[in-house]
Amino acid sequence: MEATTFTNVQIERAQRLRLRRCLLSCLFYAASASLLAVACGMGLFPRNALYLVLVSFFCTPALFVAVIATGANLRCRDPSLTEAQIAAAMLNCTLVLTFAGPLRGIVMFAYLLPLQFGAFALTTPVLLRLCLIPAAGLPFAIAASHWLGMRGAALELELVQWMALMLVLPFTAYVAGRLFEYTRYKRLSDHDELSGLYNRRAALAYLDQLTRLSTPNQVEFCVAVLDFDHFKQINDRFGHAAGDEVIRGFALLARDNLRKGDVIARWGGEEFVVVLHGDSEQARNSIERLRMACASHVVTAIGGAVTLSAGLARHLPGESIASVIERADHALYAAKRAGRNRTELASLPLDRRQAGTAP
Ligand code: GH3
Ligand code: MG
Ligand code: MG
Repeated sequence: MEATTFTNVQIERAQRLRLRRCLLSCLFYAASASLLAVACGMGLFPRNALYLVLVSFFCTPALFVAVIATGANLRCRDPSLTEAQIAAAMLNCTLVLTFAGPLRGIVMFAYLLPLQFGAFALTTPVLLRLCLIPAAGLPFAIAASHWLGMRGAALELELVQWMALMLVLPFTAYVAGRLFEYTRYKRLSDHDELSGLYNRRAALAYLDQLTRLSTPNQVEFCVAVLDFDHFKQINDRFGHAAGDEVIRGFALLARDNLRKGDVIARWGGEEFVVVLHGDSEQARNSIERLRMACASHVVTAIGGAVTLSAGLARHLPGESIASVIERADHALYAAKRAGRNRTELASLPLDRRQAGTAP
């Protein structure tokens, strides 16, 4: 038996995701370095500057990987370090621009790429603030390259290029920021705060979509209603916070034990609805796996496992959402009456039974 510590599992998952994103940026740095090496081979980028850039391109992502891998980022206000990573990428871009000479007009658009990563985690004001780096960085690179005697285009052209960049960057920042805000609000409206699972609204919208599919595209699916056994006693004995911990831990178990494509939502309280693809047998196997995982999983906050009962109904062609949920609900009560910690299959509506439909 394994103990559930919801917070730790969540942190580990988030760290793995951050590390993956960081490794993605390593690939981006490696690809940019290769491009610069090719430009250098063609005599378009100075060799000494290439060495400097390569060192910076290696050290920057390595530093972020090290900070995330050691968990030092968890002490930061934004543990994803998105803003810092974008700022570092933009500073690296400024470094390349200093030595880019005639390539500067093209290379400057590399400022746009890191900005788009902001759509994962940053709001428009933060992204606009980041635009200050290229706004000052490009003139700095132009001045530094002139000082080093490495002129690129005529100054008038450099000025126009800078103005073009100043036009494109804020728009990109605005769109990336709006995208982030949209996904954040969408997540808030579709998800339950406590468990992180879909909420009732999202589940109903999904079921609505499934039942509206035209005949040739229709998929076979089942609906299960799940309810914890004697949950009131858990709250009474261990407190409401412990009950909450059970719900959050269950959400993690569901993610690990349901099949890809099965959709689970918190229906309300300690009740959940699962939409499962396939016939009743396949759906039952999936629900049973989750039920058994739950029954053998020790929750730290209560020092034991919590069982649940489930009612499962196969959606019948042309059946309404309310009807399939009602049948699953009846089956749930049958499971409760039969002793709990079990899954019961719903019976068919009378008219379908008379027509000889399979359960
Ligand atoms: P049964 O086996 O018959 O289902 O018994 P039960 O005690 O689980 O009965 P019921 O399903 O009616 O219990 C629901 C309880 O779940 C009542 C409520 O206090 C508790 N509950 C509902 N939502 C939450 C929540 O978000 N957090 C916690 N901690 N408890 C909740
Ligand atoms: Mg209940
Ligand atoms: Mg219950």
